[in-house]
Amino acid sequence: MENKGPIGVIGAMTVEVKGLIAQMENDRTQETAGLVFHRGLLGGVDCVVAKCGAGKVNSAVCAQVMITQYAPRLVINVGVAGGMDVGIGDLVVASQCVQHDFDTTPLGEPQSQLTICRGEGEESFVMLNSDQAASALLLEEARQIYGGAHLGVIATGDSFVADPAKGRQLRRQFGAKAVEMEGASIAQACYMNSVPFAILRAVSDNANDDSPADFPAFVQACAEKSARLLAKALPRL
Ligand code: SAH
Repeated sequence: MENKGPIGVIGAMTVEVKGLIAQMENDRTQETAGLVFHRGLLGGVDCVVAKCGAGKVNSAVCAQVMITQYAPRLVINVGVAGGMDVGIGDLVVASQCVQHDFDTTPLGEPQSQLTICRGEGEESFVMLNSDQAASALLLEEARQIYGGAHLGVIATGDSFVADPAKGRQLRRQFGAKAVEMEGASIAQACYMNSVPFAILRAVSDNANDDSPADFPAFVQACAEKSARLLAKALPRL
């Protein structure tokens, strides 16, 4: 049966979601665990939007509450990220995502592993796959509107990456195009609930020595860019 639930949108910071909330029609709010969920119409599409705060725990809790309370048919994580070999202001859509700081290699496992228990058995993953149709559509919109748009792995961890050696390692180990702090944890909550997800990020910095200066300089414009693009794509999702 077709899922008639809303599209869920999660951003870590106010700047990443405030434009969407401002243009929401018939906005009704509900608060759980200190998180405020806005339910209403965006471009005529039934949506629920929330700011989760930075990091994997905040974002996973937010995704789970959203899923439990609103049964979204798709969850999209929107915002900014550090890019690897990607220009500042470019857009990155996740093909897959990975928690880069989930690491069990000292136990002799081949690479960072993630064991997810969903229902009966246990499954092991390095990467979680984004919803292909939603990601392809976001990429197409991004290419049409802005040009600089990339599809690739997004790496998520609980630290702001400003060390070029760390950026290189994430590229080498996971083939990551961007690094941020929420995408893969939202994805895991979605996976555990069988909810499709997508991640759309605009590059605010290059996860290197310049990041502490670049991030504050570009965060606002980049956050607004990704939110604008998402708003435009919503009616097609
Ligand atoms: N000032 C914020 C914290 C910002 S952390 C606060 O007080 O809550 C940086 C945010 O931007 C995270 O949400 C992360 O997803 C994203 N991000 C941008 N560039 C990043 C980078 N180089 N490394 C990790 N996350 C990055």
